[in-house]
Amino acid sequence: MLCPVCGNEKTKVDDSRPDEKDNTRINRRRSCVRCGIGWPTREVPENIYFEMMKIRGKTEKLNRIEG
Ligand SMILES: [Zn+2]
Repeated sequence: MLCPVCGNEKTKVDDSRPDEKDNTRINRRRSCVRCGIGWPTREVPENIYFEMMKIRGKTEKLNRIEG
């Protein structure tokens, strides 16, 4: 993930924990190793919906849940 400020590719994860309201999501805090700015990110398990469709044998598309 690129730094939103300076575009540096080198970013690190400072913190990683489940979302307080939806623990299928992970809230992370990243920071840039060059300019030092930090920002929060949210990770959502996208492929789970595809796996659910295969398990259920359904071809309909499930809408991705947007935060
Ligand atoms: Zn930066």
